[in-house]
Amino acid sequence: MKSGWVDRDAEAMVAHGAEAGVERDLALRIYTTRLLGRDPKLVLHGGGNTSAKTRAHDLLGAEVEVLRVKASGADMAAIEPHDLPAVRLVPLRELRALEAIADDALVAVERTNLLDPTAPNPSVEIMLHAFLPHKFVDHTHATAVLSVIDQPNGEERSAEVFGGRLAFVPYLMPGFGLAKKAIDVFERAKPSDGLILSKHGIVTFGETAREAYERMIEMVSLAEDFIARNSKPIVFARLSREIAPVAAVAPVVRGVCSLKDEKTEGAWRRLVLEFRTHNAVLDFFAATDPARVGQAGVATPDHTIRTKNWPLVLPHPQIGKLDDFARAAREAADAFAAHYRNYFKRHNKRAGGGKLELDPLPRVVLMPGLGLFGLGRTKRDAIIAADIAEEWIAVVRDAERIGRFESISEADMFDCEYWPLEQAKLGARKEPPLAGQIAAITGAAGAIGAATAKAFAAAGAEVALLDVNLAAASEQAKTIGPTALAVPCDVTDAASVQAAFDTVAANFGGVDIVISNAGAAWQGRIGEVDEDVLRKSFELNFYGHQRVAQAAVKIMLAQGTGGCLLFNVSKQAVNPGPNFGPYGIPKAALLALMRQYALDYGADGIRANAVNADRIRSGLLTEAMIASRSSARGLSVKDYMSGNLLGREVTAEDVAQAFLHHALALKTTADVTTVDGGNIAAAMR
Ligand SMILES: [Zn+2]
Repeated sequence: MKSGWVDRDAEAMVAHGAEAGVERDLALRIYTTRLLGRDPKLVLHGGGNTSAKTRAHDLLGAEVEVLRVKASGADMAAIEPHDLPAVRLVPLRELRALEAIADDALVAVERTNLLDPTAPNPSVEIMLHAFLPHKFVDHTHATAVLSVIDQPNGEERSAEVFGGRLAFVPYLMPGFGLAKKAIDVFERAKPSDGLILSKHGIVTFGETAREAYERMIEMVSLAEDFIARNSKPIVFARLSREIAPVAAVAPVVRGVCSLKDEKTEGAWRRLVLEFRTHNAVLDFFAATDPARVGQAGVATPDHTIRTKNWPLVLPHPQIGKLDDFARAAREAADAFAAHYRNYFKRHNKRAGGGKLELDPLPRVVLMPGLGLFGLGRTKRDAIIAADIAEEWIAVVRDAERIGRFESISEADMFDCEYWPLEQAKLGARKEPPLAGQIAAITGAAGAIGAATAKAFAAAGAEVALLDVNLAAASEQAKTIGPTALAVPCDVTDAASVQAAFDTVAANFGGVDIVISNAGAAWQGRIGEVDEDVLRKSFELNFYGHQRVAQAAVKIMLAQGTGGCLLFNVSKQAVNPGPNFGPYGIPKAALLALMRQYALDYGADGIRANAVNADRIRSGLLTEAMIASRSSARGLSVKDYMSGNLLGREVTAEDVAQAFLHHALALKTTADVTTVDGGNIAAAMR
């Protein structure tokens, strides 16, 4: 591992900081914190922390000695001055006289001594930073270091690799107790460079930001060199049987990793998936026994809140034998949940019985021969779980190559998983109504499709925007957020629809809600219209919906957690307009299609509903058409657009809200909601 320190960059940071009133120590603290944070072999997703002891002015202008320490959960790669809250150092150090202190009392002391009372909570490892005498302290969970110390003989290994440069601190869970233990060890052993925290990570220190940082790089390099010199050769065993594609496997995995909501009939607690595969993952499966190391535990304690303590290990899915795989996956997932509940029960009792059980679903699934899934209530959480799982694999692989991987005890894992200060990193989440669900919208680049994608994303769903115009769908996806997925899809082409749904399943793990919206209008007097025109309209306005619904239902059945089909049916289906037969007739068939899906798949928990919208500004009703139609009727545009019983213009957002309502109405199927401002001739009943 090479040092990323560049004098010119460091000085640029100091100069840049000076303009914003950031003093030199803090600017350099930010510089090396970002250097550490940008390397996933050192820290991942809010893990690790750094500090600097310096001076600052309080609100009355008095100069005080402070600890600037990373805020809990802050991302080191993107750290800013406000992510390093300043805490008065002297009162923190006085706490060393205490035997112990309750978590909430400690947080209260920290908050009382913040120079800025609105600052975020400091890292849970603040006291470790406060007690050590050095000006700069860096702490990471470096992959290579963990491979060396996550061993039954971790202390010996540590001495062998780092000599007297790092002192060894036996395992204690992060917090006040560990900080006291660490300073005692430091004072006794007087190491020159830092500390090893058993089964947890590494601390380096220095009088300058550069010294602490470069000691970290040097120590991690020692660990890397040791692994390189002492490793058993890697076994590259290849699985001979053919593996089913991820698009077919993911919905099965997602289904078995879902939980029926006991409170609301028809509701499920679902997770979103993130798939990873590459040689390092596949070689890991070949070189280790995933079933054994899968039971071994986390690589460093704070990963437990992202990945739980153990992955779910599934058999590899053979092509053509997905039913066997589904049965085996269901059994394994049920056993995982039972094991988790049992683990909770035992340790909650030991801890006094006051903990609230988290869901028993896995956050990492290992699929020997195929790859791994990260799982989460959002795509972002799934990505974090997958990133950590990849690091776990790297730690365990190298640990096994130089010895045997060993984690902390189950009781220690429980104490971390259910430590309120760890749970606080995840934030107090009030979940939106569609959290964990995946919605695919066709015609998503159009006015109604785009408004619908936005409404579903705002309600917490992960969204896939399908459109024949990929560039336009990508534009819309960008306005929603980094996890919104744009997918090319021509609903008149069966192969394109299949490929689009494969992409959605491979990317998110499956699909729960489909808004089949793509359409276009053709006109012609029905007795004279060219048959070609009618067929073209049927291809898009009827068969397009059928292809989409069929592809979606296949995934929904594989998941086994129900689903929701929503169709954009025009008012033409019930209230035909003159010369609109080529459009209205396939839409009337679409209404029948919706009812057929409701009938045939109700027993599978799949609901089918429709929205009848009329007179919406969109690709079907362009501004030019609006202008010509309103002038033909001698009306202003406004009067034309609000020519309905309520006298109100109906917008794409109104239609989106109607779709959303249906997605949430778990007891409604075969229904049509009309969104047209009132048109008695188009009323459904
Ligand atoms: Zn740590």
